[in-house]
Amino acid sequence: MLEELKKLGLELPLLPTTTVGSFPKPPYLLEARRKFRAKELGIEKLRELEERATREWIRTQEELGLDILVDGEMYRGDMATYFAEHFTGFKISGLVRSYGNRYYRKPIISGEVEWNGPITVEWWKFTQSLTEKPVKGMLTGPYTMMDWSFNEYYPSRKDACLALAKALHREVKELARAGVKIIQIDEPAISARPEELSEFAIEAMKIVTKGIDAYFINHICYGAFEFIYPKMLELPVHNFDLEMSNSELDLVELFKEHPFTKDISFGVVDVHSHAVEAREVVEGRLRTALQVLKPEQIWVDPDCGLKTRTREETVNKLKVMMDATRNIRKEIRDG
Ligand SMILES: [Zn+2]
Repeated sequence: MLEELKKLGLELPLLPTTTVGSFPKPPYLLEARRKFRAKELGIEKLRELEERATREWIRTQEELGLDILVDGEMYRGDMATYFAEHFTGFKISGLVRSYGNRYYRKPIISGEVEWNGPITVEWWKFTQSLTEKPVKGMLTGPYTMMDWSFNEYYPSRKDACLALAKALHREVKELARAGVKIIQIDEPAISARPEELSEFAIEAMKIVTKGIDAYFINHICYGAFEFIYPKMLELPVHNFDLEMSNSELDLVELFKEHPFTKDISFGVVDVHSHAVEAREVVEGRLRTALQVLKPEQIWVDPDCGLKTRTREETVNKLKVMMDATRNIRKEIRDG
């Protein structure tokens, strides 16, 4: 979709490099968030430290040489709860347990869901003001917001999802108006119930993206792709950002059966492992990608957000990713 990007005024190198969105929060920010929750620290002070951490991550991404940057989500806790807190129609539950020992506050839909004013726009503007490189806009998708919330208001999952899509569309519109060119919609839950993809998840994404002049990325991780591929290619986005490495690239087999028709952000480092991949391993993954995809289709990034890794692991994994990408770019150029 190089044409699409050029139309938007974006000149990106072959195999553009990016990250999925989250980075680890520095210790001073974790401490500040704890104090804020305990009402020992004001919102202004917290915001100041979130901005400091964002600045540090922008500098790091520039030093690494990444092509498309992210704000690192220094201001976010849970990805569904964050948006729910800003919409009308939600309550937030007490702590709910998920994934073993992880606790979070689950959103509860208790009324008509409505967009109540910009949520991510100020953060995007702030982050974009720090760099010449394009910064992605970033939202949690309607299907995931619905699947990860208790629904006490809408008669069906479909109704809840479509209402969320309308609310999220308002946010997307504001982002585009502010100048965002690349918008990523995170839908980790999209394969939760595969039949719902054709029943309403595709329709919901059409509502979110309708009439917006931007390059859309859909981030999907840990899914049962065998049940939603190739149908998922009908989601109205330009690029699918997929977790490839954690599953030993087994999606590539699906791409052999049904050609992948869109751009892909190909996850080349596993975010669940502390171990930093060898450069040769990442190069091997990119060569495998090139067996089933054209170079112009491929973006390079980690499998998922890096917030659970340490800063050192994050930087080292990204260094390897960048070195491997530079080598493979050269291989492609040299034929
Ligand atoms: Zn993910």
